[in-house]
Amino acid sequence: MSFLTRFAPSPTGRLHLGHAYSALTAYKAARDVGGRLILRIEDIDRTRCRPEYEAGILEDLAWLGIEWETPVRRQSDHFEAYASALARLYDLGVLYRCFRTRRELAEQSAGAPQEQDAPQEDAAARSGDLPISWGDEDKKDDIESLEARGPFAWRLSINNSQRLLGEEFARLEFTSEDVGPKPERRTNQVRPDLLSDVILGRKDTPASYHLAVVHDDALQAVSHVIRGEDLLSATHTHVLLQRLLGLPTPVYRHHRLLTDEDGKRYAKRNRSLTLAALRADGVTPTDIRRRIGMDE
Ligand code: GLU
Repeated sequence: MSFLTRFAPSPTGRLHLGHAYSALTAYKAARDVGGRLILRIEDIDRTRCRPEYEAGILEDLAWLGIEWETPVRRQSDHFEAYASALARLYDLGVLYRCFRTRRELAEQSAGAPQEQDAPQEDAAARSGDLPISWGDEDKKDDIESLEARGPFAWRLSINNSQRLLGEEFARLEFTSEDVGPKPERRTNQVRPDLLSDVILGRKDTPASYHLAVVHDDALQAVSHVIRGEDLLSATHTHVLLQRLLGLPTPVYRHHRLLTDEDGKRYAKRNRSLTLAALRADGVTPTDIRRRIGMDE
């Protein structure tokens, strides 16, 4: 199998040490086996992503000494492709509309991927909405009166997915590997308790992190997804989405998350630890690599 991995940042701020670790881990994994690294800009959230952050990401990665293939895919250029994937899921009857206030919706689907999840069917219960199957004879009037209620999110119904896939649902699995020089392989069953009714689109935006990432990993023939262990539960949802959409499942490597002196994960709030700020303080790429244990 030819090895192709990706680094897929969202341009909602400058890169910090945690991103540097993730990007260098992917870069090294590709280099170790003569494979390829691509860069993907995950900017479907038009309210929080900014072109200047995208430019900053490219600058920071180049400064770190990372090389990637071009052209770089920018997700906001491909909403039509995500709309088709969403329509396909709609046709399968595994989507439902979830109504929330505008603010709740914005917080939910715009947030980091790990903040988007809703407990299974719970969102439906809260909103008073019922799962709507595209397969059913949806009456136009019903849809119009429903949609008049205001903004909504398209959520994946785990229950309907399970009904659709039948016994196969319990057999969903993926291969994972350790991060390191001799990655050991494991087969993992998809755990239903890690699945949730994630947002896959909104009334006005036919995409979400989960939908776009699954679509693009397949389109770009990514063989290995290398990302932080905070996305491990998302991987379980992604494997289900791949099965529903008829897409291949790549191999997954989840790396540990770096923490700051207080033991907290690096996040965009650690402004003083952005690569840009460190660089302005005279820190070199070699210092960064040493600091995050990537200096061999
Ligand atoms: N865009 C996501 C983030 O910045 C990462 C997506 C992924 O690696 O799957 O958190």
